[in-house]
Amino acid sequence: MTTPGDSAGGGFDAWAAEQIATIRAADRWREVRTFDARGPVGRLGGREVVSFASNDYLGLSFHPAVIAAARAALDRWGAGATASRLIVGSRPVHAELEAELSDWKQTDRALVFPTGYAANLGVLSCFGGADCLIVSDELNHASIIDGCRLSRSPVAVARHNDIDHVDWLLGAASVPRSMVVVDAVFSMDGDEADIAALAECCARHGALLVIDEAHAVLGPSPAPLADFEDLRVLRVVTLSKALGSVGGAVCGPAPFIDLLVNRARPFIFTTGLAPADAAAALEAVRITRSPEGEELVARLAGLVDRLRPGHRSPIVPILVGAEAPALRAADSLLGQGLLVPAIRPPTVPPGTSRLRVALSAAHSEGMVDRLAAGLDALGLRP
Ligand code: PMP
Repeated sequence: MTTPGDSAGGGFDAWAAEQIATIRAADRWREVRTFDARGPVGRLGGREVVSFASNDYLGLSFHPAVIAAARAALDRWGAGATASRLIVGSRPVHAELEAELSDWKQTDRALVFPTGYAANLGVLSCFGGADCLIVSDELNHASIIDGCRLSRSPVAVARHNDIDHVDWLLGAASVPRSMVVVDAVFSMDGDEADIAALAECCARHGALLVIDEAHAVLGPSPAPLADFEDLRVLRVVTLSKALGSVGGAVCGPAPFIDLLVNRARPFIFTTGLAPADAAAALEAVRITRSPEGEELVARLAGLVDRLRPGHRSPIVPILVGAEAPALRAADSLLGQGLLVPAIRPPTVPPGTSRLRVALSAAHSEGMVDRLAAGLDALGLRP
């Protein structure tokens, strides 16, 4: 048995080697791959592939107007925000983006964070605390789980999409405040939260409802939220997926946004989003809200329907089970020029390794048909 200091690097060399061996033995080893691409088609390891792995749901990352907006911002304000937002890291484009986002999401105000991950950490750590129960769906994204931990709140994990369980957990709360946090579309399963039922439940219990809309490009509709006057809601948006840029935002009531500005450490103690990224996101929101955006959304919905009729989000999971066969299926598709990642624990629960197809309006019908044929050949019809 090694003790610290016994071996090279204070024991850390041996420790790291052991950890790596454990990850490899479980078929969970991961590596960064370079994909040389603009849009879904690019080069990976010297060969051309079609990617079904990005979150560029509307293809806006390479829309000419988005690129032009980023370029103009780069020329005007330079490469970086140069400071945190509360010091001198706010440019006019940040305020414009926040105004556009709050108008789009029909909230008083919005606050931009450097990533969606930071936005979730910010909301949960700011509004949580020892006196606030957080009820979190068991399939919520890692950034929500990490936000729960950072908040020091008592956390109750609700069974997936089980409103009765959420209701019961809120009723059993022994602290003065409670909050329910949920992905609008679950990132590894592609299914939707029941916003109407959650809104009703939270309104009845006086719980704050936090909705992470990262993947909510085709739905669910936020309309039910308007039915509950007393309900308080924070909507977390990522600028990095359907909007094709990078960053995150929280949209909500003015006092709540003011509180985030003053208390959310993932906002306060980090450099502001680069102006070019903010400008790209701003242009992307404008396109999304325009008739062109509606067409892109309709196109994406059509492609989803082509692959899995009736499915309601661009994330189409294909369950395999164990890690090794999921990896083999992904490798086999890659051999046909189709890049579909195998998602394994700890990202998903053990025994539920899967292929995760993410569709984009930038895919062609032909690409989707090729994928369907490739899956079929593996006995994995979506
Ligand atoms: N929430 C969800 C549901 C996500 O899937 C992700 C990204 N995978 C995030 C938040 C984090 O967003 P970002 O990549 O902008 O940090």
